[in-house]
Amino acid sequence: MYPGSTIGVLGSGQLGRMLALAARPLGYHIHIFSPERDTPAGQVADLEICAAYDDLDAVRAFARGVDVVTYEFENVPAATAVACQEFAPLRPGPQALHMAQNRLREKTFFVENGLPTAPFTAVHSLTDLQNGLVQIGCPAVLKTAVSGYDGKGQIKLMHPDEAEAAWQAVGQVDCILEGWVEFEREVSVVAARGLDGRFAHYGVIENSHANHILDVSKAPADVPPDTAKEAVAMAQCVLEALDVVGVLCVEFFLTGDGRLLLNEMAPRPHNSGHLTIEACVTSQFEQQCRAVCGLPLGDTCYRQPAAMANLLGDLWDIRRKGAKEQRGEEREGEVDWTAVLRLPHIKVHLYGKREPRPGRKMGHLTALADSVGEAERIVREARALLGY
Ligand code: AMP
Repeated sequence: MYPGSTIGVLGSGQLGRMLALAARPLGYHIHIFSPERDTPAGQVADLEICAAYDDLDAVRAFARGVDVVTYEFENVPAATAVACQEFAPLRPGPQALHMAQNRLREKTFFVENGLPTAPFTAVHSLTDLQNGLVQIGCPAVLKTAVSGYDGKGQIKLMHPDEAEAAWQAVGQVDCILEGWVEFEREVSVVAARGLDGRFAHYGVIENSHANHILDVSKAPADVPPDTAKEAVAMAQCVLEALDVVGVLCVEFFLTGDGRLLLNEMAPRPHNSGHLTIEACVTSQFEQQCRAVCGLPLGDTCYRQPAAMANLLGDLWDIRRKGAKEQRGEEREGEVDWTAVLRLPHIKVHLYGKREPRPGRKMGHLTALADSVGEAERIVREARALLGY
């Protein structure tokens, strides 16, 4: 699909927005399919089609108007994916989508492909959970098999006595029970595979989380070369086994004794890859565009070490509370960006979301520097200026 063609995107959040912004310089048109209006992606797209994902007539009309369909979230209903495929290729294909939608399926797929994970077992009943805790031991973490993200639908169990309460708390739905990993670090590999099967990657990125939500990413990660090689090889194995055309991210735990355990994957650009926008010759978003359009993949070289810090809705909340305390009045929580915009090494990204809510990803900051440590220091200090 040559420049001038139209890329259809299912989903309308910040990932779709940054994909649209990267596709523009290459001359592509972007149509967004979204259940809402005035969305982060819709604001910068040529067309925002507003309908429910299960409105298959609307989905077909959307797919008829584009040359290729991709998605920016993995919970696209299977019927929606099938309806799109009647009119346009879906990239990455339905296999990746199917695998990423269910934690149990995903982990089973990893193991079947010889990729290491934390010990896990399927839980379909309280008895399964009780038996699982005997088998795996405590601490363990119970996660709903579907629809969990950013720590939602997860409960850590410290003792087998907590089984019944945990089973009630997750709503007695199909789950996976995992052994708790005392990891030293969390890392990810963002990689891409082209239509011709070529593979490209952004090396290992190190991630820290706060309240289960990604907080800061930095790259290249300070891991031994063999570990980096192994992580990339594992990511390549995932992309090839699923015949992915597009970008996919694999998240790992790295243990103190140097073992990599796969935690999860996302068949799309990933929050940990946002720093590639400034840091790399080709960003993960341009790469996604290139891959799904069948163009050659771009150079993934780092121009400089980088760090990224997320800006959550909490920031607006803090400002609002601060304003109230100072003035004794409720005031819209505006953030004063000027101090950060004055900094020479910081790039500010805001996603155009109207409603800041605690835990909601509203934007991010990226810093480039001569070392990863310096980039991290700069980005954290910049965020602190905002009152974080
Ligand atoms: P997930 O939604 O599976 O990515 O989990 C969100 C975060 O919870 C991860 O990034 C980890 O920080 C933590 N976590 C999830 N599963 C485990 C586990 N088995 N052992 C230790 N920490 C975990």
